[in-house]
Amino acid sequence: MKNRRPLIAGNWKMYKTPNESVETARQLDQQVRSVADVDIMIAPTFTALTAVWEVVQNGPVTLGAQNLYWEAEGAYTGEISAPMLKSVGCEYCIIGHSERRQYFGETDQTVNKKIQAAIKTKLKPVFCVGETDKEREAEQTFSVLDKQVKKGLEGLVLDQLNTLVIAYEPVWAIGTGKTATDDQAQEVHQFIRSLVEKNFGNALSDSIRILYGGSVKPDNIAALMKMPDIDGALVGGASLDAESFSQIVKFK
Ligand code: PEP
Repeated sequence: MKNRRPLIAGNWKMYKTPNESVETARQLDQQVRSVADVDIMIAPTFTALTAVWEVVQNGPVTLGAQNLYWEAEGAYTGEISAPMLKSVGCEYCIIGHSERRQYFGETDQTVNKKIQAAIKTKLKPVFCVGETDKEREAEQTFSVLDKQVKKGLEGLVLDQLNTLVIAYEPVWAIGTGKTATDDQAQEVHQFIRSLVEKNFGNALSDSIRILYGGSVKPDNIAALMKMPDIDGALVGGASLDAESFSQIVKFK
């Protein structure tokens, strides 16, 4: 029996204008009003955050950002800081998504700085880890995750980590329609939980939420959620539509 509260999070990536985001957020808000036992988060683009906050602030849907920069302010053209995100209603921030690692040069070291900045500002980090298909084929999944988790959380101590969420997103399953099987996902989630236990002790490993991400859809969420170490989902494509995302939120 899991005693961790599920979190279903939607990553809207670089989709939707503010008007389109508001429309989807409004529909979602209506569809999940009665949901009381699941935490719900959506992460629209930066330009839509303020408008979406207006729509969701009194309901069960919380707001997240997709990225941040680790300095609070300064001459860093094009960047957004944790305090700025907090000031427009963000409760969570996705950090180290594989698309950021792949296309924008993020490393375990920059991910670590971003996690530290989020925690300092009381933004809940959704820390993404996951192996590529080449790494899985070479049987390096566990060693890759070991390094990502260790380096991503370097320098952090137990009492800073109570709001941390980890998202296991096998890179080969993101946006591809290929989902890890329930057993494949469970095996890795259990491994990540054991890493957290080894590095920070079992109080944190028992309470930390580990989400699965990679082509989650209304028809595969229930089976994933039955797995003992899967505490929710980070959803890309299927979160863009209020109807399909709300079905995922109501997975039971
Ligand atoms: C994601 O972007 O984090 C993701 C898992 O995308 P998708 O659900 O589209 O695979």
